[in-house]
Amino acid sequence: FLNQQIADLDGKVNVSFEFFPPNTPEMQKTLWSSIKKLEPLSPDFVSVTYGAAASTRSRTHDVITKIIRETELTAVPHLTCIGSTEAEIESIAEDYWSKGVRHIVALRGDLGQEAEQGDFKYATDLVYKLKQLHDFEISVAAYPEVHPEAETAKADLDNLKRKVDAGASRAISQFFFSAEKFLRFRDQCQNHDLQIDLTPGILPVTNFTQLQKFAKFTQVDIPDWMYKVYDGLQNDPETSRLIASHIAIEQVKLLVKEGVSDFHFYTLNRADLTYAICHSLGKRCLTPAA
Ligand code: FAD
Repeated sequence: FLNQQIADLDGKVNVSFEFFPPNTPEMQKTLWSSIKKLEPLSPDFVSVTYGAAASTRSRTHDVITKIIRETELTAVPHLTCIGSTEAEIESIAEDYWSKGVRHIVALRGDLGQEAEQGDFKYATDLVYKLKQLHDFEISVAAYPEVHPEAETAKADLDNLKRKVDAGASRAISQFFFSAEKFLRFRDQCQNHDLQIDLTPGILPVTNFTQLQKFAKFTQVDIPDWMYKVYDGLQNDPETSRLIASHIAIEQVKLLVKEGVSDFHFYTLNRADLTYAICHSLGKRCLTPAA
């Protein structure tokens, strides 16, 4: 029944892909071959993360500019506000607007030493600022398992509501491995009167050891069954990838069954798993993949 439902989707699923700016020529090559592979799937947009360190931030701009110049894709920069002055944010936003960027993923960023020096405290402040400057479409972050600094789950929902009231129209979720947790969060958003498109962030797991560190930092739960499934595969990336693809396909199928039609993929600049999952969702190339 589920497979029939997927087969019936017939291109009704919308996808977006997230990349990060590369910092070596090798990674640069990987990024661009991934973009070329994924472009024919006609994503709604592709987004590029914004570095935590000021020194890496211009790379986001460089990747966005190249995407605009060399592809048919809609390029969406992430922008964080913590540690930035209002003048810096204005200049970045104006530059993007002049280049044709109309959609920004607006974030606070993680707290660091620079946090004290900036004009912004929370993502809400950035959403206000961007909307004041231009009628950008704004996406923000949401946390099905609650942001680590939030006092309570309700306080975190209140925060999401503030971001929506400030002008955000889409929330992209932190990655998760329990579809039930995401669906419960979706219900809570509805009960909280949040009029927003909630897009699940899907992370195909390429490296389980790395994931455990990242999940600890973000306080995302890794279910016991995942530890069991990846047990013994520490030095077997090939099998890990096959399993990762299976896990993510099951996850998106379950979400489709529950009425989810938009998916955001944390590609980690690699195309193969995301491509396979999109294929299983009925996404097909409009032009042959490179
Ligand atoms: P906010 O929405 O400002 O929330 C931060 C915390 O403050 C939450 O705990 C919230 O509940 C609390 N809070 C908000 N307002 C108040 C208030 N008035 N009083 C008390 N508490 C309050 N990071 C990067 O550096 N670069 C990226 O490109 C990037 N992209 C991301 C994309 C997605 C889809 C996601 C989910 C995360 C991304 N992050 C990125 C990580 C993000 O910057 C961190 O999770 C950061 O810690 C919080 O950012 P936020 O925008 O959710 O912050």
